[in-house]
Amino acid sequence: MIKRKKGIIFVVSAPSGAGKTTFCRRVLSELEGIVFSVSYTTRPPRENEVHGRDYFFVSREEFLRMVEEGKFVEYAEVYGNLYGTSKEFIEGYVEQGVDVLLDIDVQGAEKILSYYSDAVGIFIFPPSLEVLRQRLLKRGTDAPEVIEKRLKVAEKEIEKADMYQYWVLNDEFEEAYTVFKSIFLAERSRSERLFLEGRGLSHR
Ligand code: 5GP
Repeated sequence: MIKRKKGIIFVVSAPSGAGKTTFCRRVLSELEGIVFSVSYTTRPPRENEVHGRDYFFVSREEFLRMVEEGKFVEYAEVYGNLYGTSKEFIEGYVEQGVDVLLDIDVQGAEKILSYYSDAVGIFIFPPSLEVLRQRLLKRGTDAPEVIEKRLKVAEKEIEKADMYQYWVLNDEFEEAYTVFKSIFLAERSRSERLFLEGRGLSHR
């Protein structure tokens, strides 16, 4: 008897190494009716990354052509590579009543949250910058100078956390993940996002 008006846009940001990818993958596998917003990037694929699943990997030339054509709702340069969010991708799903999860940096999130006023912003905090450094070292995907650069960026990102409606501290993983998932479930239950079948949309 209760129906959703449209899909919800969830924007998740965190300093790199704070656990964002793990949180996002898990919530995507556990919830129905939600897809990952696949961004376009000029960054070369990492091992295990799949074109069309993790990113659409394109040349700089193609990326800039898409910018000209207005295909991106936002795009940014992060660590020397271009990343863009496809407007068509997001809106296509939202119109069908499917939620879209965006895993993007703070610059992009700021644009998405102001462009889509009903989008939901979630910021994941690491327990501390020192813990973040240890996690990045353990992950082993970045050179030491890249890690130091990411930590400097992390400090700047944390300063922007006020624009997100939800904050999740990733200290103990299971506990933090429970909080994270609850946000999706609670947002789906907000009355303004729903309507009673038979009464139509105009009632509220
Ligand atoms: P990575 O290269 O590690 O996958 O991503 C680097 C950063 O770019 C991450 O903070 C990621 O969230 C961000 N990013 C990924 N896709 C987009 C996008 O479409 N737009 C923006 N602005 N940032 C993105």
